[in-house]
Order: sequence, then structure tokens, then C-alpha cells
Amino acid sequence: MHQDVAEILISEEEIRAKVKELGQQISRDYAGQDLLLVGILRGAMLFMSDLMREIDIPVNIDFMVVSSYGSGTTTSGEVRVLKDLDRGIEGRNVLLIEDIVDTGLTLNYLTKYLANRHPKSLKVCTLLNKPSRRRVEVKVDYNGFIIPDKFVVGYGLDYNEYYRNLPYIGVLKPEIYQE
Ligand code: 5GP
Repeated sequence: MHQDVAEILISEEEIRAKVKELGQQISRDYAGQDLLLVGILRGAMLFMSDLMREIDIPVNIDFMVVSSYGSGTTTSGEVRVLKDLDRGIEGRNVLLIEDIVDTGLTLNYLTKYLANRHPKSLKVCTLLNKPSRRRVEVKVDYNGFIIPDKFVVGYGLDYNEYYRNLPYIGVLKPEIYQE
């Protein structure tokens, strides 16, 4: 697995420090308020589980499983909800936890989808952000790392469903993407 990686873009230590910083910021911003974390699976699973441990105020959690049509390293922008939230969100402060905002199409779809249910507030926290690839404008409230236009894997992010268990964010060797 590690031998397929051409470059480590963000190390485990850098991720840990950033997740801690985000957790502290979120704890401060939502202190004394109700907070529901909504993890977008499967990509955000590691980020969500580390982030929630750095949040020191009471939270509830829920998950959605979404998939965007498309294969390999491209998205078509069409989003399918494979698993919806288990509970209603009306009147609640919802914080969406995303692995990466790339074209913005997934987030644009999800925020509209959830806003329809009248949460008290709806904000977004993403580990990674590729603003250079944006096709639709989206608001991101908590940003981990701004990264260049490269297809990355690891720390929850996959290539053809593999490499999610790499503990860092990396770029694969070109020949792997071509296989
Ligand atoms: P969007 O283009 O809609 O902003 O992002 C859709 C989804 O595409 C993300 O949630 C993520 O699962 C996937 N994606 C976008 N860029 C990357 C990337 O660089 N690496 C991986 N593994 N997935 C990505």
C-alpha cells in the first residue's frame, strides 16, 4: 500500500494538529448550544472520529452515506443519498463533516437537501478543500487544509475504494491511477 504513494502531502502529525485546532474552535463557537455532527460517509469517517474526540462540549452524531455518480477520479455531480439521517434536524445546530470539497457539487446538493428540513443553523467543516476545482460556489465554515488540484488518498479518502486506511494524505504514483 505505502509503496503506491508518490508523495505525502499532509503528514499524520499535521493532521493531528489541525484536527485539534478545529475541535477547539468548534467547541468555543458552539459552547452552551446544542450541536449535531453529521458525518458524510464513507470519506469523512476517520476525520469525524478524530474530530469528535477533540470537541469538549456535548454533541450528538449522525451519518449520511452519499455517492456521486462517476468513476475513477471524477464526479458527475449527481448525488445519491444511500443512507439518510436517522433523526430529524428541525431546530438543531447541524455541522456537516466532509472529507473534501472539490467541485462543490456534493456539498451544494447536501446543504439544499438538509436546509429543507429547517435546522436552526447549518454549517460545514471540511478537512480538505480544493478551491481551484470549484464548479459551484459553496460556503465552508471550518477549513482544514487548502490543497492543490491533485487527486489525493488516505485518512478516509479512497481510490477505487482502497487506500482509505493510509494514516496520512498522499498522492499515488501515476501508474496506479492508470491501472
Ligand atoms: P465534490 O466534487 O462534489 O466537491 O466532491 C465529491 C466527492 O468526490 C468528495 O466528497 C470526495 O469523496 C470525492 N473527491 C473529490 N476530490 C477527491 C480527491 O482528491 N481524492 C479522493 N479520494 N476523493 C475526492
